[in-house]
Amino acid sequence: MKTHCPYCALQCGMEIGPELTISPRTDIPANASGALCQKGWTAGELLTNGERLTTPLLHGEPVEWDVALDYVAYRLSAIRAEHGPDAVAVFGGGGLTNEKAYTLGKFARVALRTSQIDYNGRFCMSSAAAASIRAFGLDRGMPFPITDLDDADVVMIAGGNVAETMPPFVRHLDGPRLIVIDPRRTQTAKLAWLHLQPTPGTDLALALGMLHLAIADGLVDEEYVAARTTGFEQVRTSLSAWWPELVERITGVPVHQMRQAVRALAAVDKAYILTGRGAEQHAKGTDTVTAFINLALALGLPGRHGSGYGCVTGQGNGQGGREHGQKADQLPGYRKIDDPAAREHLARIWGIPAEDIPGPGRSAYELLDALGTPEGPKALLLFGSNPVISAPAAEHVAGRIGALDLLVTCDFVMSETAALADVVFPVTQWAEESGTMTNLEGRVLLRRRAATPPEGVRSDLDVLAGLAGRLGHTFETEPVKVFDELRRASAGGPADYSGITYDRIADETGVFWPCPSPEHPGTPRPFLDRFAHPDGRARFVPVQHRPAAEEPDQDYPVYLSTGRVLAHYQSGAQTRRIASLVQASPEPYVELHPDLAEQLDITAGDVVRVSSRRGEGKAVARISDAIRRDTVFMPFHWEGANRLTNPALDPTSRMPEFKVCAVRVERDS
Ligand code: SF4
Repeated sequence: MKTHCPYCALQCGMEIGPELTISPRTDIPANASGALCQKGWTAGELLTNGERLTTPLLHGEPVEWDVALDYVAYRLSAIRAEHGPDAVAVFGGGGLTNEKAYTLGKFARVALRTSQIDYNGRFCMSSAAAASIRAFGLDRGMPFPITDLDDADVVMIAGGNVAETMPPFVRHLDGPRLIVIDPRRTQTAKLAWLHLQPTPGTDLALALGMLHLAIADGLVDEEYVAARTTGFEQVRTSLSAWWPELVERITGVPVHQMRQAVRALAAVDKAYILTGRGAEQHAKGTDTVTAFINLALALGLPGRHGSGYGCVTGQGNGQGGREHGQKADQLPGYRKIDDPAAREHLARIWGIPAEDIPGPGRSAYELLDALGTPEGPKALLLFGSNPVISAPAAEHVAGRIGALDLLVTCDFVMSETAALADVVFPVTQWAEESGTMTNLEGRVLLRRRAATPPEGVRSDLDVLAGLAGRLGHTFETEPVKVFDELRRASAGGPADYSGITYDRIADETGVFWPCPSPEHPGTPRPFLDRFAHPDGRARFVPVQHRPAAEEPDQDYPVYLSTGRVLAHYQSGAQTRRIASLVQASPEPYVELHPDLAEQLDITAGDVVRVSSRRGEGKAVARISDAIRRDTVFMPFHWEGANRLTNPALDPTSRMPEFKVCAVRVERDS
């Protein structure tokens, strides 16, 4: 049976054979080379994992489904009656299918009438999304087919380690000259023609310096800027202070390297600038991405066939997950929740008065931070997320979750957050249910049910419909019928899926949105003729560098940066249960430079205590000259790394500052 990988946003095509064997498909462009990473190859083992939950748990005791659903519906009604609808919160995930993301948003607004819904994608792609909407009027992630990269002359990736996070992506980088911006010499940086290694938290300054050089060296595509953009003069003026020598002092990147990168991008016909979480997960993430988009616009890249800007989305349905209403400020079709026309449209689809649709709620971290407080939600329903591991200041978040009157989770194994829950619903996973995913290209893909779920588990859609029914509402549970409703809900919106059907996806190996009618071919490159602002032009937006929210000092003298490793995915709830992945990457570690290790009397293999103002974590020391002397790195798949990270938020995207904070590192005695 043809399907797609359960993990990252590349959504590699795979075939599930007898005995749940996995083999790559070659009809899906993302991995047409026949590649999968080790997570993909072992995805079948998730289905038969011995730790699967198969019975609902109420306070840790197995109960019948009706008992658990009745209990949750009763408690939700009681909490709403006592404290109002916003006392119940919903938290979703970027790995949920489009059908689930849509139903989750509808459940919150229609069945619960709460404004308190957001999702873990806020922690992933929100800064790039906000910057793309600001610049282009639309966020379509990487607004071109991934195969366009195959023909590129130069690709610059700022803060993305695709060689580890999504290895088949690298096959698309075989041809172009690769420039990588990353404080670490990652596996991706090792492939690069040029590696710029800035101080953590200074990518914004670096992008400003590069644009300053582009202007000074006469590399701006004046014709493109005049024809397709507005605001360049304001940006040119705003750059006057950002002399390359000053930028070198801030970032540590030599001027000649900045110049080399800019000239390489400007000298060729086909060039791309991509950003990943390294540039985006900052309290100034939106402005950092904006600075890279400004550079791309000045060089005339976006909206041209063969060139462009794109965000390398991370989570499996990171793109679709941010389009269909599980965000605090959004309605399906990528509509704004405070747009009167959008509210009227959804009210018609949902059969309720527009004024009954709640307004915007709290963003993900603000929502988690408010749980159990006098003004905050008293109950939380959690789908497809494990915030005890993946949220910033995770110990604080666990404390807030512990203060709830009611925590309900849907999980297929006992995640660290599920272990705290009053009620756990055991749910189906990827190949056990049908549904659509929208990959990092904006290509809508179909995962068909290919395996029989264990007895006793149900889909998240069944859980939502079961609760909605008990609260007086009828919800659809068949994925294809939910998708039909989603199509109608998205019609006319920026992310218009109305012309996409399951059959079309299967026949055409995916359909790019927007696709406003069954006859429409889909839109692989949405900005070729015009950008999505009313005047069709992209916007230059002036931005300024500022320091990280927390810089090293006497007490916490070292930068911490976090990220992923090849063998694990997100909070590790899935991959830490696969034997071969655990063997490949068994434990949390902290990577530090030999000079720093010597200074701290740490040798490889020592257990190290890393502490910040928010908590501490232990990890095994790995010594490597691939990292800067002033920085340590920890992967975030285990408890520990996110106990340290800083929840300082970007003012626009509300993205926490995962990628830089100040820590102290000591050998654990
Ligand atoms: Fe799955 Fe991503 Fe690996 Fe492809 S690269 S096999 S989608 S985890």
